[in-house]
Amino acid sequence: SKHLEDTDSELWDAIEDEAERQQTEIELIASENIVSRAVLDAVGTLLTNKYAEGYPGRRYYGGCQYVDVVENLAIDRAKRLFDCSFVNVQPHSGSQANQAVFLALLKPGDTILGMSLAAGGHLTHGAPPNLSGKWFNAVQYGVREDTHEIDYDQVEQLAKEHKPALIIAGGSAYPRIIDFARFRKIADEVGAYLLVDMAHFAGLVAGGVHPSPLPHADVVTTTTHKTLRGPRSGMVLSNNEDIGKKINSAVFPGLQGGPLMHVIAGKAAAFQEALSPDFKIYAKQVVDNAKALGEVLVGGGADLVSGGTDTHVMLVDLRPKKLTGKAAELALGRAHITCNKNGVPFDPEKPAITSGIRLGTPAGTTRGFGVSEFQTIGNLIVEVLDGLAENGEEGNQKVEESVKERAIALCESFPIYR
Ligand code: PLP
Repeated sequence: SKHLEDTDSELWDAIEDEAERQQTEIELIASENIVSRAVLDAVGTLLTNKYAEGYPGRRYYGGCQYVDVVENLAIDRAKRLFDCSFVNVQPHSGSQANQAVFLALLKPGDTILGMSLAAGGHLTHGAPPNLSGKWFNAVQYGVREDTHEIDYDQVEQLAKEHKPALIIAGGSAYPRIIDFARFRKIADEVGAYLLVDMAHFAGLVAGGVHPSPLPHADVVTTTTHKTLRGPRSGMVLSNNEDIGKKINSAVFPGLQGGPLMHVIAGKAAAFQEALSPDFKIYAKQVVDNAKALGEVLVGGGADLVSGGTDTHVMLVDLRPKKLTGKAAELALGRAHITCNKNGVPFDPEKPAITSGIRLGTPAGTTRGFGVSEFQTIGNLIVEVLDGLAENGEEGNQKVEESVKERAIALCESFPIYR
C-alpha cells in the first residue's frame, strides 16, 4: 500500500513543516524531548492494528501472542530500570496514570493533598478545573515564600488537619529535589497513601542523577515522554503487590479499553535505551546543562525561582527585568527559541500573562548541546529579553532577527534524525 507522503499531501505537508520547525528551533520546553529513531519506528508499526484488552497471558482477544511479548518486554525493562516489583505500562498518558491511582485507592469525595498549580504542581494533583479537583475534596499545599521550596511544615499541618486518604508529591514546574522521606513520614503520621508523580524527573532517576521515589512512595506514576525520552504516554509503578493488583484493575477495565500496543512498543524501545550506559551520560548532561543555562541567565539579570535548579527545569522570574512571561515567550519564539510562559510562586500576574518562563534542557541535550551551547543559548535569551525590556511588547526586531539567525545556525550544527 502507499505511504502517507503519496496519499495525503495536505496532512503530510503539515508534518513536514513540524519536522522543519523542530530542526530549526531551540527547544526549551521542559516537558518535551526528542525520541530516538528506534522509538519512532516502534510507534509507527502495525501494532496499532491490534486489540489486546487485558494483560499478557490473560487477554480478551485472540492473536495476542506477539503483543504479549512486546508488553512483557516493556514491563520487565521498566522494572529493571526503576528497581521495582510492579509496573503497569498501559496508561495512555500521565493524567490517566494518575486517574488509575485515584480509581484504585480512593472513592469520590475522599480528601487528597497535592501541590497547587500556582506553586508548580500539576492539574491532576487536585486543581479545581480538573477531575481530581472536582470529584475529590482537594486540599493544596504550596512553597515557602522565602526559599520557594515545598513548605513541608504546611504539608504536615494540612495533613493533620484534613486527614487526606492520599498525598501527592511531584510537579510540573518545581526545580528542586523533593524530600520523599519527609513526605513518607507525613503520610505515615496520618495514615495516607503516598503517590509520587515523577513525570518530570523520571529520566533523571533512570539515569542515576536524582533520588528514586520508589523506596518511599506506595505508588509512583510517570509520563514516559519527558526526561525519560520515550513515546507520549504514561505508566504506574509500585513495590506493593496489593496496590499493583488494584492498579491493574483500575487501568483495565476501570479506566481504559484496549492498550495502545504500538506505543507500548515505543516504551519498550525507550526503556532499553534508558538501561544503556549512554543514558547515564545524557542524564548527567541534562543537569549540568541546566545549571550552566541558569548561571548565564542570573548573570544577565534574571532571577531563578528557588535560586537555581537541581534538575532539568528552571523557572525564570522576569520581574527584575520588568517583563511578563507572555511577552517573553512570544519574543523568544520570534527568535526561534521555544519555551512556555509560567507563573512564578505568588505571581501577581494572571495565569494567561504570568511573570515567568519555564526552561528545560532535555530536548537540547538529546540533540547534542553541551554546556558551551547552553551558555550560548543563555546569552541569546538575555539578548532577546533586554531587547524586549528596551522596546516594549513589540520587542526589538533587529535583535530578534539576529538571534534567530544564530539560533538556526546552532540548530543546523546539531541536526535531529540526521
Ligand atoms: N504529571 C505531571 C507532573 C506532569 O508534568 C504531566 C504533564 O505535563 C502530567 C502528569 C500529565 O501527563 P499527560 O500530559 O501525559 O497527561
